[in-house]
Amino acid sequence: DSVTTDIEKLSKRMQKFVEGKRLEIKSLTERDSFRRDFLGNVAHELKTPLFTVQGYILTLIEGAVNDKEIRTKYLERANKGVERLVAVIKDLDMIAKLENDGTKLDKEVFNILELVQNVFDMFEMRAKKRNITLKFDRIYEFPVFVNGDAKKIEQVLINLIVNSIKYGKPNGNTIVAVESYNEGKFIIKTIDNGEGIKPQHLSRLFERFYRVDQSRSREQGGSGLGLSIVKHIIEAHNETILLKSTYGEGSEFSFTLEKPK
Ligand code: ADP
Repeated sequence: DSVTTDIEKLSKRMQKFVEGKRLEIKSLTERDSFRRDFLGNVAHELKTPLFTVQGYILTLIEGAVNDKEIRTKYLERANKGVERLVAVIKDLDMIAKLENDGTKLDKEVFNILELVQNVFDMFEMRAKKRNITLKFDRIYEFPVFVNGDAKKIEQVLINLIVNSIKYGKPNGNTIVAVESYNEGKFIIKTIDNGEGIKPQHLSRLFERFYRVDQSRSREQGGSGLGLSIVKHIIEAHNETILLKSTYGEGSEFSFTLEKPK
């Protein structure tokens, strides 16, 4: 009797082992297809602006260069394409760096209010062009110190604030609020009254290259990588990202940061 139980146990273990193997193989192929998808996406992202640039240059070579007005117009359009290429490559470079040493953080205690102000200053002109006001919801009048990698948190703020400008409604506004989240954490919120996001997109929004509207994102100069960079950085800090959005009304992206001990 005990022999049969042993055999049963052994066969169960074998089964588990086989299942385990199968699982491992499955996840390998999954990773493989993930890599293939990613490469495909990268190629596509680069191909589109590159062909545009090539198209304008060829037209110029074929004679358009002799017409001063067309020449300027085509060169400007070609330059737009190059700018897009540069944006995509910069973001890809950032993702590659984050994946290589993303968990290595240069943590320090810094004033988050000052960092937000810096980002506002950087994008004031861009916001003005779309008639969007960047506002500070200052609950705290004194410096608010947090603990984190200031350079990387600045990148998070840049990506969120730029998105609120890109997807904001003209004459709208972006409000950044810093509030106490719990005893140990602050929460930093970027609130816009822009176009908002339909619920079916929310869970996929932080995936690389996921966009609600491809052409709208491209026209705004987006690489489709901004929110995946945000996710990477916040996860490396072991912090939380929250997203609330109402289609047609606006969105609120927020993340937590440690209070210094
Ligand atoms: P992109 O370069 O396309 O902006 P992101 O990763 O930054 O890439 O954002 C992914 C998508 O999420 C955008 O294409 C847009 O559809 C949506 N999105 C991001 N931020 C906002 C926002 N503040 N309001 C509405 N939609 C947004």
